[in-house]
Amino acid sequence: MPWCWLCGKPINLNLPWNDRMSFTVDHVVPLSRGGPATLDNSRSAHRSCNSSKGNRPHKPDLKTSREW
Ligand SMILES: [Zn+2]
Repeated sequence: MPWCWLCGKPINLNLPWNDRMSFTVDHVVPLSRGGPATLDNSRSAHRSCNSSKGNRPHKPDLKTSREW
């Protein structure tokens, strides 16, 4: 069973892919920033841990910017 490198807890591989505690692969150096797509640059993480790390304080929401 893989372990989450962000919170240190085990990851259940039997959970559905869209479960917030499901298995995801996180890249130490993001591919968008030139990180290699190698196992050495990859870490297993929960979906929720992975997404919370990448959260931005302010995300523009285009859906609310349209005129009513
Ligand atoms: Zn985690």
